[in-house]
Amino acid sequence: MATPSFPTRRRWLRQASLGAAAVAGMRSLPLRAAGAAVRAQRVHGDVWFVQGEAELGSAANRNFISNAGFVVTDQGVVVIDALGSPALAQELIEQVRSVTRQPIRHVIVTHYHADHIYGLQAFKAIGATVMAHRGALAYLNSDTARQRLAASRVELFPWIDERTELVHADRWLDGDTLLALGGERLHILHMGPAHAVEDLVVRVEHAGVLFAGDLVFRGRIPFVGQADSAQWVASLDRLMALRPRWLVPGHGPVSADAQADLQLTRDYLQHLHATMAQAAENLEPFDAAYAKADWSRFEHLPLFRAANRMNAYNTYLRLEQLGAGAAAAKP
Ligand SMILES: [Zn+2]
Repeated sequence: MATPSFPTRRRWLRQASLGAAAVAGMRSLPLRAAGAAVRAQRVHGDVWFVQGEAELGSAANRNFISNAGFVVTDQGVVVIDALGSPALAQELIEQVRSVTRQPIRHVIVTHYHADHIYGLQAFKAIGATVMAHRGALAYLNSDTARQRLAASRVELFPWIDERTELVHADRWLDGDTLLALGGERLHILHMGPAHAVEDLVVRVEHAGVLFAGDLVFRGRIPFVGQADSAQWVASLDRLMALRPRWLVPGHGPVSADAQADLQLTRDYLQHLHATMAQAAENLEPFDAAYAKADWSRFEHLPLFRAANRMNAYNTYLRLEQLGAGAAAAKP
């Protein structure tokens, strides 16, 4: 695969505005890099993360809606997730370089959703080894993934464009894997299928930090999509048993009270499942079931309006297709 070069931010923006001129009149485009800066925050010791916005991906926020992290050791740096565009990944690389001169050796992909992987090619370009779970291959080779990228090239232009590629892992993992580097031990644990088939979490043993990927959303409603909410709940139970001191979610701020945050995501998924299972079992129409469900515990959370109804609908459809017996099984 060709390794594209990465322009400086200024050149990137100039190219972006040339692109804008080419499609002038078709749509309005951002004239500047709006939204939050990619800024490294220390989680604990040599473990850092950057926090995306609690928004849906857009050209205005450069698709900076997810978190990424990195662990610095004296034998190199391990990055967890690649952010939602090559330009953001380049900013993340600059943030790594602002805290260490160690090279970036590995990138661990928690799952292959667009907001976590469109930056991967920037890491490939500097020679990092991309690691992910083999379960992602079916999606990566699907029309859905190609269509999603094609749509993103329009919706997220200029941050996602014709040069943005779907990057495969260099090392496909089959199960739990230990990455020992410079005295630190990273336990890469397969938790899928939960949010996605290929879900990985990374437990940084000595630092006591858990990168939970999208098994945990903090401060916003999760994106459930086609996920199996019952399996997801079981995976959250496994994470709770790890008792991390610090938890970095896939979205939202770092948590020093991991158990409470794991519990909130768990409660939401269980409520979603229970409500929609009952509706599917009773052959109740979705609209009526949704209207009468009690969402009061969650409706104050950001993205409730954008995500909750879709989450409920996807869950309802999935349970209805599974049949009443499966729907009745509690997560
Ligand atoms: Zn995500």
